[in-house]
Amino acid sequence: MFEYAPAPESRKLVTFQSSYGHFIGGKFTKPSNTYQTISPATEEILAEISTATAKDVDLAVAAARNAYEKVWSKLSGAERGKYLYRIARIIQERARELAIAETLNNGKPIKETRDADIPLVSAWFFYYAGWADKLDYAGLGVNPKAHGVAAQVIPWNFPLMMLAWKIAPALAAGNTVVLKPAETTPLTALLFAEICQQAGLPDGVVNIITGFGQSGADLIAHKDVNKVAFTGSTGVGRLIAKQVAGTNKKVTLELGGKAANIVFDDAPLDQAVEGIINGIFFNQGHVCCAGSRLLVQESIQDELLKKLKKRMETLKLGDPLDKNTDIGAINSKVQLDKITKLVKLGVKEGGEAWAPNCEIPKKGFWYAPTVITGVAPTNTVVREEIFGPVLSVLSFRTPAEAVAKANNTPFGLSAGIWSEKGSRILKVADQLNAGVIWANTFNQFDPASPFGGFKESGYGREGGRHGLLAYLKGDN
Ligand code: NAP
Ligand code: MG
Repeated sequence: MFEYAPAPESRKLVTFQSSYGHFIGGKFTKPSNTYQTISPATEEILAEISTATAKDVDLAVAAARNAYEKVWSKLSGAERGKYLYRIARIIQERARELAIAETLNNGKPIKETRDADIPLVSAWFFYYAGWADKLDYAGLGVNPKAHGVAAQVIPWNFPLMMLAWKIAPALAAGNTVVLKPAETTPLTALLFAEICQQAGLPDGVVNIITGFGQSGADLIAHKDVNKVAFTGSTGVGRLIAKQVAGTNKKVTLELGGKAANIVFDDAPLDQAVEGIINGIFFNQGHVCCAGSRLLVQESIQDELLKKLKKRMETLKLGDPLDKNTDIGAINSKVQLDKITKLVKLGVKEGGEAWAPNCEIPKKGFWYAPTVITGVAPTNTVVREEIFGPVLSVLSFRTPAEAVAKANNTPFGLSAGIWSEKGSRILKVADQLNAGVIWANTFNQFDPASPFGGFKESGYGREGGRHGLLAYLKGDN
């Protein structure tokens, strides 16, 4: 066996300010009511972040309204598109810096921020830039109109990517926005605010307020908001659905998931193992569409699990800034406690948890990649979203049983199918109740492809033409 020499990315390529205010009307406010944001891998304090009060929310929504009425709604689609192209290009130019910043504040490996997150962020802006002057072809008739001011609240698992999924279509369609990032991962959103300044985006078109759940709740409740877009937990999604019921606000909710990754006996097993690994250990399993339930055909279960465990022994857990690292830090102490508690419960309910022998760093928040076998569809670890590097394994005998087990969940976000047989893939995909289904691959994202769920995974789509429609009048 060869040993890997350390290959750390340079921390020096990013400078954060020591403290940040909110980004309102094109300017940063004076920092106030601050809390500390840290690197979950080292617990190093990265910056002081402001907590938005109801008054800050008011100012941000007013700035967005003003920019909408006076500037953004008056520009042609082609002019809006130019700004979006400019933002997309600046993101490409600053890609390395943004990747490091995201890795520092989120804890995810640099190879993911470098090769997945940030390239997708710029791709999203390029894609929607192209739509800005083609709204007449969106399928809503000639000259469809924007909603106005969009309130957008996002989670911590893909901070800048979720921002791009929200802001790019909103601006292309002609809305202005106020966005609140998650409390633990505000830094790339604040760097994005600087990018808006660099791009010369008119003041108030994008506003970023930071803070906790209450700031998000205040933003969504604001009277002058026309459209709400939320990505986060099903629990908070439910609260928001209640909050906006009976108002004129349009809503899209992208919530949790508990995806089945189904492996049939004719699947190419080594390829499936890579797909299972990618499905659940990508981004430490902090992925709404993670393949967190492995459904494996009984006749190949032993062989597949043997291969999977062997592959898991090779995963490198540790410094997220090291280019060799596969598994980075858990985003927060709160999330680590949640994962630990759920796995303990899984074992208490009769499951057997297995993890490779890997060294856990002393500082920061870490969880070894884990497989739980011997569980039934009624067990908590099979039903609840763990949102960590934990895979629950079930077996099946027939395709019908696989479909029944896969659909036996309150969620309906994604699924994976592994089989050599195209007709089987199409038939099973047709029967699965999930918004996105991957065949012989997993966790593939593309700005042209709509993403979103059924049932408790939420409603509305992001990405593609569908994602654009959510920001235009006339879609519902
Ligand atoms: P969360 O607690 O629901 O938080 C999401 C965002 O909402 C954060 O910015 C949060 O602020 C804010 N928030 C909290 N309470 C709020 C309230 N009452 N009103 C308005 N905003 C509120 O979720 P999370 O733990 O950060 O993220 C993990 C969850 O997101 C998982 O369930 C995952 O499946 C889901 N997710 C879904 C998708 C998808 O596209 N379907 C994508 C990514 C993640 P704080 O950060 O201050 O709490
Ligand atoms: Mg939260």
